[in-house]
Amino acid sequence: MQFFDDSMLPENQEPLVIQVAPFGPQFLPSDSDDIAVSMDAQIQKAVDCYNAGATVLHVHVREEDGKGSKRLSKFNEMLTRLREAVPNMVLQVGGSISFAPEDEGAAAKWLSDDTRHMLAELSPRPDQVTIAINTNQMNVTELLTHDDCAGTSMAEPAYFQAYKEMWIPSGPTFVEEHLKRLQASGIQPHFMLADVGQLETVERLIRRGHYTGPVVLNWVAIGGGADGPNPRNMMEFINRCPQGAVLTIESLMRHVLPLNTMAIAMGLHVRVGIEDNLWGKKGERMTSVQQVEQMVRIARELHRDVASGTDARRIYKIGEHYNGIDETLAAVGYEPNRKPGQRGFQLAA
Ligand SMILES: [Zn+2]
Repeated sequence: MQFFDDSMLPENQEPLVIQVAPFGPQFLPSDSDDIAVSMDAQIQKAVDCYNAGATVLHVHVREEDGKGSKRLSKFNEMLTRLREAVPNMVLQVGGSISFAPEDEGAAAKWLSDDTRHMLAELSPRPDQVTIAINTNQMNVTELLTHDDCAGTSMAEPAYFQAYKEMWIPSGPTFVEEHLKRLQASGIQPHFMLADVGQLETVERLIRRGHYTGPVVLNWVAIGGGADGPNPRNMMEFINRCPQGAVLTIESLMRHVLPLNTMAIAMGLHVRVGIEDNLWGKKGERMTSVQQVEQMVRIARELHRDVASGTDARRIYKIGEHYNGIDETLAAVGYEPNRKPGQRGFQLAA
């Protein structure tokens, strides 16, 4: 992304889109008093986050017994209720479905390729499904301190060990097929990218015609296989994003606030919620709603507008799709593919 002389001025920046992940599938209901278990409570949580200023909802679903739902019918029930309760929110289903532990020690497993492909058949259709690119370690414990895990199941050795060894299965065959199915269903993939190498793979998928839609993505700075929460990593990732990308910053625990504050100043977008972070000030829990409210306060201090649901849908380019490789490259802000025999650097069309 290129910054102009006036890019830091808030009147030239898009309104801030606050993405919230309030369901925390990795936690057990006993881990926090901010975990919604019943369907009614999950819907109410979405309403509260929307009223606080969040306009994109990262969706995971719990069964009535508190375990992460792996049933598509339960997802469909939740999406139906959400469409009624928060009609202006962008609904983004977490593509891991849920990695909530079935049993102690059996935690932290992503579901099979075939199961994840079924997300393309959700009804009603969500606006987005998240997709990881390339198989990768997802050791969330690397950045976690003892304090971070205090009072949660993650402090138990068996859970901690399972999360330490967690990895994301997202090989090339899965990615190509999943993108095909999501596009056929009119669902926008939301790319969850751990580093520049994964962003480069997205570019190659576009250059080869596997994906012909907008590039809407999170930089997921959670360490343990992904970039760590280092501002130099963040600036490099921003630098490598094409001009038409829609970039949201995501991190882990108390790294979320400082990185998001930088993101708000720079005209980018943010993600908050207990799936990423339980904490406000050191040692003090903070709910998802309070985290959303904090983003709104910081945006106001910086005179940055906060997006309405209509703004978020436009900024996220929901429903946009392009005709072929050349049109996609131009819309996303990548230079065109080299034509046979063409020499030198390519100029954007
Ligand atoms: Zn998630």
